[in-house]
Amino acid sequence: SVPAAILSALSAAARGGVLFKGGGALETLAEVDIFAFDKTGTLTTGRAEMTEIVALDGDEAGFLSLLAGLEAHSEHHIAAAIRREVASRGLDPAQVADVNARPGIGIEGSDALGPVWAGNAYLAEDMKAATDHPALQALADGANTVVYLGRGATVLGAVSVADEARASSAGAIAALRDSGVRRIVMMTGDRRSVALRIGARLGLGPEETHAEMLPQDKVRAVGELAATGRVAFVGDGVNDAAALARADVGIAMGAAGSEVALQAADVALLSEDMERLADAHRLSRRTSRVIR
Ligand code: ADP
Ligand code: MG
Repeated sequence: SVPAAILSALSAAARGGVLFKGGGALETLAEVDIFAFDKTGTLTTGRAEMTEIVALDGDEAGFLSLLAGLEAHSEHHIAAAIRREVASRGLDPAQVADVNARPGIGIEGSDALGPVWAGNAYLAEDMKAATDHPALQALADGANTVVYLGRGATVLGAVSVADEARASSAGAIAALRDSGVRRIVMMTGDRRSVALRIGARLGLGPEETHAEMLPQDKVRAVGELAATGRVAFVGDGVNDAAALARADVGIAMGAAGSEVALQAADVALLSEDMERLADAHRLSRRTSRVIR
């Protein structure tokens, strides 16, 4: 049977919005000395805003409508930001079919004219589409996420999407350090410049900030950390599911996170307040001292 101290800790954590799938996860969390965090939607709010638009042929409405037509099929935070902005301009999304998510890089589909796609520089490269137009380069020189829209091997333009750190993320990281967590790192599929800017706000140095990672890169990095200690991975996306499963303790964002991430995780963080996670870590350590 589960010791009373664990049951009472599980219910105290649940009151703070931290749901453990069992007493075992609470006991393992007590031993965690390395935390790896996803960025988008985890350390950041995920309430991104589309800020800049470059439509290379000058038809901004047509460009935005096609982009929104693709993003209508994605559950990514970036997709939601694009849909909101396009709708606020009174534009309807174009019809796009045969849509496939490309986790960690973007999305692809087809309209009446043929294959179309939206995503980052890796996806553009995969499509053999050049992103070296000066107007696109100017977007890429900024510190926001850039989403390219393309038709086959042609880039039609790009938008930039800005997301900010959650108010509670810096405090949570500081609290975890205070309770003796040895290493804290960020792992993101986003660009290095964006990751460094957010990391700097949160007290994470360049050596603790890993960017441009594909889902499988996150899994490998979690595995490498797991060889040196007990690792918790905190994430929200479809692209985080494998890393959540690989970690000693997988912690998924519950409110806005994806279903797949929640299923792969040992702990669901229902609160938007990251400090509740640091509280739960402290609580797990106190509890494991009591039952030993
Ligand atoms: P993170 O690891 O920070 O949560 P993701 O791995 O989910 O980020 O995404 C990595 C990158 O892939 C994004 O920064 C974006 O450039 C691109 N991407 C992913 N999904 C989409 C999408 N639906 N539309 C456009 N770009 C996307
Ligand atoms: Mg994410």
